[in-house]
Amino acid sequence: MDERDPLEAAVTAARRYLHSRSTRLVRPELPGSEVGTRLPVRLPDDGLDPAGAIDLLASIVDASHLATGSPRYFGWVVGGTLPVALAADWLVSTWDGVGGVSAAGPALARIEQQAGEWARDLLGLPPGASFGFTTGCQTAHVVALAAARHSLLEAREWDVERAGLFGAPRIRVLAAEDRHVTVDVALRYLGVGTDAVTPVPADPAGRMHIGELERLLREHRDDPTIVIAQAGNIHTGAFDDFSAVCALAHETGAWVHVDGAFGLWARATGRLRHLTTGVESADSWATDAHKVLNTPYDCGIVLCAHPAAHRAAMAGTGSYVTFDQAERDPNAWVLEYSRRARAVPVWAALATLGRRGVDALVCGLHDRARQFGELLANQPGVAVLNDIEFNRLLVRFADDDAATAAAVAATQRDGTLWLGTSRWHGMTVGMISVCNHETTEADITRSVSALLAAAATPADD
Ligand SMILES: *Cc1c(COP(=O)(O)O)cnc(C)c1O
Repeated sequence: MDERDPLEAAVTAARRYLHSRSTRLVRPELPGSEVGTRLPVRLPDDGLDPAGAIDLLASIVDASHLATGSPRYFGWVVGGTLPVALAADWLVSTWDGVGGVSAAGPALARIEQQAGEWARDLLGLPPGASFGFTTGCQTAHVVALAAARHSLLEAREWDVERAGLFGAPRIRVLAAEDRHVTVDVALRYLGVGTDAVTPVPADPAGRMHIGELERLLREHRDDPTIVIAQAGNIHTGAFDDFSAVCALAHETGAWVHVDGAFGLWARATGRLRHLTTGVESADSWATDAHKVLNTPYDCGIVLCAHPAAHRAAMAGTGSYVTFDQAERDPNAWVLEYSRRARAVPVWAALATLGRRGVDALVCGLHDRARQFGELLANQPGVAVLNDIEFNRLLVRFADDDAATAAAVAATQRDGTLWLGTSRWHGMTVGMISVCNHETTEADITRSVSALLAAAATPADD
């Protein structure tokens, strides 16, 4: 019988993993099929020893993990973890508190409230805006667009929470073609449907064309309309012209929602804040803490300029719940009822970084992305396709789809760094996003060398 404490085993495994991150391969060492053979074949009749089970889990994941927390992981937009946020997250699980209802966890609710107020303030959004902590930007979109749906239909004397959507005036959505898939999924969840989307023509970086937006807004100006703008285009990192978008949309009574999953954090800096000018005039915002702020998964933040619509779309009541009227109940602003106190790691991150620390973290990602771009731009046969406004760059090799896909695949196999591919403007491109607080200049130099070496290896290697 293994008498060790499973918590001690977990701390040991966590330390080992954290220390290995900057040196380990970023790609999984073993394929999933091989990992499967290390798991017990069937559910044991007599349970495993707890510490032994922890060791087993740690060794299996260690052997086959895409190390998205590595400082040389540049795929999608993922983000690492600040040690203090991780530590706070451990405590959240330790307390195992009911994070949704103030009466069941007064301290947790108060900490969430402060974290939300701090985030709102850092992001320069209206002091009266309501907020909720979601599992990610996907669910933040659902919450924000539910508030939009409530508000637009209420203005047409339709109570969507009571009557549902059958027979309701049809909502239309104006959004750039190059938007994140989670926007469409949110529209599906809400019964608005993806057919409701009219794509707004955009410039090459993905910014909505203001003249075209104006034309579309005027075309059916009486339809309940949601405009979805982006703080950080999914490919280029570009920002919409929020002042113009909000002014035009509001002129026709439309609701402006901003997908700011990673880019909204530009607003928490002195140097990049200008990219978000006018974004404070929007009606709702969705962002993530688990990306740029480097808190552990999972945590997004939804904010809304219309607290009554936000609350009407989300809150429920029941005679068996003790609501404390004077306190803020976290679950009145999100989809989940019982939920973990996921704002606690955000509080820990913000409290320890402070304003200057958040500014330095975000600007550091921008600096590293620019360094990446500058080092690549001088190489023969390599093109950086976008202006690096924030933390993202698109690369292409030999101006060729197959060569680009092969270079990325060879890089993934090498494992020094990790990036993925996408299709953009009809081309295969490599997508790099710098989102980890630990990424150093040396990580970028090393990554550029490894990427160039991989690109130079024959495809059949
Ligand atoms: C990552 C991302 C999302 C989705 O966020 P999740 O936290 O994964 O739900 C939405 N929009 C953009 C622009 C993103 O980068």
